[in-house]
Amino acid sequence: MDKRKVLIAGAGIGGLATAIALAQRGFKPVVLEKADELQEVGAGIQLSANACHVLNHLNIMPLIRDHAVAPKCIEFRHYHSGSKLFRAPLGWVHRLAFGASYLHIHRADLQLALASALQNISPNALQLGTNITVIEPRDNGVTVSCADKSEYHGELLIGADGVRSTVRESCFPEASQPQWTNNYAWRATIPTPALGDNFMPKQATVFVGPGKHVVLYYIRGGRWLNMVGVVESDQPCAKDSWSAKAPWEYLRDDFADWHPMVQQVIKAVPRDTCYRWDLYRRPALDNWHRDRVVLMGDAAHATLPFIAQGAALALEDSLVLARCLDRYNDIPLALQHFQKVRFNRCSDIQTRADENMALYHGDEAHLMRDFTSHMRAPSHYHFMSNVYRYKAAQVPL
Ligand SMILES: Cc1cc2nc3c(=O)[nH]c(=O)nc-3n(C[C@H](O)[C@H](O)[C@H](O)COP(=O)(O)OP(=O)(O)OC[C@H]3O[C@@H](n4cnc5c(N)ncnc54)[C@H](O)[C@@H]3O)c2cc1C
Repeated sequence: MDKRKVLIAGAGIGGLATAIALAQRGFKPVVLEKADELQEVGAGIQLSANACHVLNHLNIMPLIRDHAVAPKCIEFRHYHSGSKLFRAPLGWVHRLAFGASYLHIHRADLQLALASALQNISPNALQLGTNITVIEPRDNGVTVSCADKSEYHGELLIGADGVRSTVRESCFPEASQPQWTNNYAWRATIPTPALGDNFMPKQATVFVGPGKHVVLYYIRGGRWLNMVGVVESDQPCAKDSWSAKAPWEYLRDDFADWHPMVQQVIKAVPRDTCYRWDLYRRPALDNWHRDRVVLMGDAAHATLPFIAQGAALALEDSLVLARCLDRYNDIPLALQHFQKVRFNRCSDIQTRADENMALYHGDEAHLMRDFTSHMRAPSHYHFMSNVYRYKAAQVPL
């Protein structure tokens, strides 16, 4: 493809990483983001080696090192008794086995680091306050109009606009609506001094129980603890927005009979910062591209958090897509190769995340009987090893 203008919808993790990868290859990306500013939305995310491999390649690591925390291990515990069900090393073992670090970071810290790297390499590429409302394919590209009446033209439009993608809705009318998964997620961050000394070692701790689980890990250089609590429910409670809040009392009641460590965390959650987000999934779309439009990240293959890979897949997409556009002059051919390289991997991980829902939320007997044996099974290790060792910069195109 000629090194011309590429429009990217969305300045989330995937959109910004794609813009950097394209700018590094001489393209002129324009990122259209509906928010007026990049806010402190979201909470912690876990970045396994496959994600860190992309961040290394994009030279983002020096920008996030001080914000991230490298956990030594992940430990799964019984929701009530706290007994240890399974433990896997992360830290140097993960680095040695899979070629890059395992990190915990606040989504906002990663997003701001990506935005600052983009600003350095391509000043003015990021256009905030540009909510895309109309997309019109043209012979030689795509024109998009935004709510503020601005208009942009590019040779290609990349839809990196998340699970509720406008690009997907307007250019792929065959796509089904996001499906409610019968789960919502609490997300909160707690200043660590509020938890007292030595609350938890530098690790991820996951409490699993009937119909619910809680994940705890440190972010922001260890100054904050991130909590994610996923709860099965009969009906959706809010919109699936990064910024929807709910009363702290609901969070307290959801985990009323859980282990004292969980209680201690919930007691320390600042009262007005309890984010609650309905979890939706997107059934796999057979075709991610049409003419001069392509989907990536959550817009193409939203993945439930039961495998902690949604952002990692968006990062992998960004590098593979930029490499394809760089390698093939013909845009439809480049997009075909992008989908061919990425489709099976993303679908497999999406499916495994769906399956993990039952694994994490089993009843009492299941937890004691099946959970540990599943986690210890060679097939589980084999699957996760393949997830972690993927190198988007090297995968053959
Ligand atoms: C509870 C929870 C825990 C998670 N934990 C992990 C984890 O540990 N590890 C991991 O890898 N992933 C995790 N994820 C998943 C991860 O957060 C997402 O997969 C990832 O953020 C997707 O990136 P994206 O760039 O595709 O979309 P997003 O990050 O959602 O970005 C989309 C962007 O598009 C913008 N936008 C939307 N519509 C428009 C429009 N019309 N015009 C312009 N801009 C628009 C939005 O404002 C947003 O900035 C988790 C998710 C949840 C819910």
